[in-house]
Amino acid sequence: MSLIEELKKVLGDQNVLIGTDKERYSSDWLGQYQFEPLCVVRPTSTEEVSDIVRLARSFHVNIVPVGGNTGLNGGTHSDNAISISMERMNKIREIRLNSKIAIVEAGVILANLHQIVNENDLMFPLTFGARGSATIGGVLSTNAGGSNVLKYGNTRDLVLGVEIVLPSGEIMNLMSELHKDNSGYCLRDLVIGAEGTLGIITKAVVKLFPKPKAYATAMVAVKSLDSALALLNELQDGTGGAVAAYEYMPKRYIQGHMELSSSSKKPFKKDYEHLVMVELETTVELFSRYGDDGKVLLSSELERILNKNLNEGFILDAHIAQNEEQRLIMWERREAAAEISLLKTPLINNDIAVPLDKVSKFLTAMEKKLPELDPGADVLIVSHLGDGNVHYTVWPSKDDEKHKDKIMEEIENVVLNLGGSFSAEHGIGLSKLSSMERRKDRVSLNVMRQIKNAIDPEGIMNPGKVLPKAN
Ligand SMILES: Cc1cc2nc3c(=O)[nH]c(=O)nc-3n(C[C@H](O)[C@H](O)[C@H](O)COP(=O)(O)OP(=O)(O)OC[C@H]3O[C@@H](n4cnc5c(N)ncnc54)[C@H](O)[C@@H]3O)c2cc1C
Repeated sequence: MSLIEELKKVLGDQNVLIGTDKERYSSDWLGQYQFEPLCVVRPTSTEEVSDIVRLARSFHVNIVPVGGNTGLNGGTHSDNAISISMERMNKIREIRLNSKIAIVEAGVILANLHQIVNENDLMFPLTFGARGSATIGGVLSTNAGGSNVLKYGNTRDLVLGVEIVLPSGEIMNLMSELHKDNSGYCLRDLVIGAEGTLGIITKAVVKLFPKPKAYATAMVAVKSLDSALALLNELQDGTGGAVAAYEYMPKRYIQGHMELSSSSKKPFKKDYEHLVMVELETTVELFSRYGDDGKVLLSSELERILNKNLNEGFILDAHIAQNEEQRLIMWERREAAAEISLLKTPLINNDIAVPLDKVSKFLTAMEKKLPELDPGADVLIVSHLGDGNVHYTVWPSKDDEKHKDKIMEEIENVVLNLGGSFSAEHGIGLSKLSSMERRKDRVSLNVMRQIKNAIDPEGIMNPGKVLPKAN
């Protein structure tokens, strides 16, 4: 029997997609890669995933996991491979209120988890613009970050356990519900962020948190990025660490948002250079009460600190959301980043991290360097400023691979000099392979290759991603 026939025997005809049925799995979200999987399979259980892997091995065919296909680095590229879509493994198995955990299948869409958890008066804090499509398996595999890392950490910090089907077809059960477990190497954290190169995540145990009782959200025009950092520290000190999101959007970003959406409004009449969106949240009943001025106490505290900074000249203007609608408009602006980056092509997608007090140094250095490299280049900047992550998208003046790689290399130089990383939260996939080759410490890279060889000696699991070929 052929591989396709064998797969159909395991999954049923309708869950082995070939021909035009697999077309929607043939490009990445950014449209930078086009590819043609041999077929797309859609299992519903861990055992089926294991059977698929064993079949792929016996036919010497590669496997590429795909969740919501919202990754930004070509990680789901799957020419001539079995693309294994986790979309039907979409059950939230259990929400355990007392221990604040959820047990979920890998294909659960992030927004669906948010909704169910919210109905149980809890929250799962990982969030970003693609939450309506991104899946648990995808966010674990990319160790996604998003807008709340400042307060809750990135995906690795939010996961207690995983189940994974190894390239051998064996099922590795790491479905721990423990907050402490020092029994040997932490294989869970190895699998998280492996971008599907070490196996297929089928389930996870994730941490849940108390649902905030109130938010205070504002757009703030700051004098400079240094003033923004000082304001962040003052807000953290003044509110007992209530800052959940601290997002930077400069003038060019606001222009981009206006170009993207004709109905969008400018945050202020004046075109300020540096804007920050800040969100405080509280689970404390007392701070979510209304004060004598008719405002929620958390909001009043935000107003007090902003007023003080306004009087001292560190901020130039501020607007606090007066209701949920205004808050959502602020979030919509921030979460349009990926769509804004698609306004022009070609693009160079840089997702860098530097220490918090080096963000302004990075941007100042790039202001000088980019025009030297490409006088006609345009740039879109948006940053999870509270955790030092800058999305520095360059629209170069010409679509030339060498030219684009040179720009990336120069950006990496600046980042390296500031003690930063060329990949903050999107991972490596295909698009960051040359950066990985240039920048990753040799010893670390060799250890990674040895781990890959030990777990996947035949190299069938998402081959060609994350690890550049050894010379
Ligand atoms: C509009 C937009 C906004 C975004 N904002 C952010 C942001 O703020 N922060 C951030 O960190 N990221 C952001 N991202 C990128 C983010 O990395 C992805 O959206 C998400 O983490 C991937 O989830 P997915 O299910 O779509 O995975 P996919 O794109 O399907 O896959 C991503 C990688 O994981 C692997 N994979 C998928 N499922 C599994 C599995 N079950 N087992 C093993 N490997 C698997 C794939 O092979 C691939 O290598 C954004 C993306 C978009 C489009």
